[in-house]
Amino acid sequence: MPGEMLFARAHARTSAAALEQNLSLLARRAEVPLLLPVKANAYGHGLEAISRVAARHPDVWGLAVATPQEAGAVAALELGKPVVLLTPPRPAELEELADLGVRLPVASLEEAEALPAHARAHLKVDTGMNRLGARPEDAVRVGQRLHERGVLEGAYTHFATADEPDLSFAHEQFRRFQGVLQELPPLLAHASNGGGILSLGALPGMRLARPGLASYGFAPPHLRGVLPLTPVMTLEAEVTYVHTVRAGESVSYGGLWHAPQDTVLATVGLGYADGYPRNATGKAFVTVAGERRPMVGRICMDQCLVDVSGLNVQVGDVVRFWGPQDITVSDVAAWADTIEYEVLTGLGTRIERQTDR
Ligand SMILES: *Cc1c(COP(=O)(O)O)cnc(C)c1O
Repeated sequence: MPGEMLFARAHARTSAAALEQNLSLLARRAEVPLLLPVKANAYGHGLEAISRVAARHPDVWGLAVATPQEAGAVAALELGKPVVLLTPPRPAELEELADLGVRLPVASLEEAEALPAHARAHLKVDTGMNRLGARPEDAVRVGQRLHERGVLEGAYTHFATADEPDLSFAHEQFRRFQGVLQELPPLLAHASNGGGILSLGALPGMRLARPGLASYGFAPPHLRGVLPLTPVMTLEAEVTYVHTVRAGESVSYGGLWHAPQDTVLATVGLGYADGYPRNATGKAFVTVAGERRPMVGRICMDQCLVDVSGLNVQVGDVVRFWGPQDITVSDVAAWADTIEYEVLTGLGTRIERQTDR
C-alpha cells in the first residue's frame, strides 16, 4: 500500500493515566460527576482517544462538544455515555442529532417548540457571559415549556470570570442561575468550568461540572496550588538534519539570528503549520538529549532550528517541545503571548496522536 512506510515527524503523546488522575481529582473537588469537554479535538489531544479513555472513567457522566459535527463524531464511537452539544444547532440538524441521542441546548420558546419529541434538552441560561442562552427572566418559561413537552434533562450556565482572582461576578452569576433553578423541577444542573471547580469548589445544587483545560492538566497561575494536576500531552518531533554554521552567519527567514560562534544546529520537523506558535521566535526553548536548549532564528512553517552545540544529537533523535515536566504548554503560551487553550487547540493534523498508559 502506498504510504505504508511513511511516518509522521511529530507526535503528540497523551498519558491516559494523567488524564484519569486529573478527572478523579476534579470530580472529588467538585463533588459531582464530570461532563468532560472534548471539543476542538479534545483540546488538541485527539477526540477519539480522549473520549475512549474518559468514557471508561467512573467519574465521567458524559462528553461535551461545541459543534454538531463533533457531536456526530463522538456519538459514532458508541461509548455508552451521553453527548451534550454546547452551541445551538441549525433547525435542519435537530432530527439527526436527536436520533443520535445528543443532548441539545435550548434557549428560547421557539427552540423549545422546534425540538423533536424524542430529543433531550439542556436549558441554556445566560447569567452574564452574554454569549449564548436565555436571560434568567426568560429562562424559567423556556424550562417549564421543555418540562411540559417531556424533554427537559438539564440546565446550565457558563462563568465568564471563574478563572480570575476576583470571584464576585462568578458568585453573582451563580446566584442568578440558582434563581432560575428554584422555579424548575429537579434536573441535571451544571455550571463550573475548570476555573470554577478550582476556585469555587463544590457548588450547592449542581449535579455535574465541565472542566476542560484543567482535565488536560492546566490551571491559571493563582490556582496552581489547588490540585496536583498533571499535563496530559507530550509534544515531540524528530531531528531531520544536523549541521554547523560559522560565527557571524545568519539563520532562517529574515536572518534574525546570527551565530555568535561556530554553532551546531539541529533542524527539527515541526513548525507553525503544526501549531507551534511563530510568535515564540527568539524566546522558545526545547528539551533535547535531556537538556534545555534554545530555538534560534524564525520558526518556519514546517521546521524550526535548535542550538545543540556540545550535545551528541543525530538525525532521527527526538526533540521535546513540551510535556508534564521541564517545559510545559504554559511556558510556550507565555513565550507566544497567548494562552494554553490557543496553543493546544491549534495543533495541526500532521501531528500523530498516540496514547500511553
Ligand atoms: C469550553 C467550555 C467549558 C470548559 O472550559 P474550561 O475553561 O476549559 O474548563 C465549559 N463549559 C462550556 C460551555 C464551554 O464552552
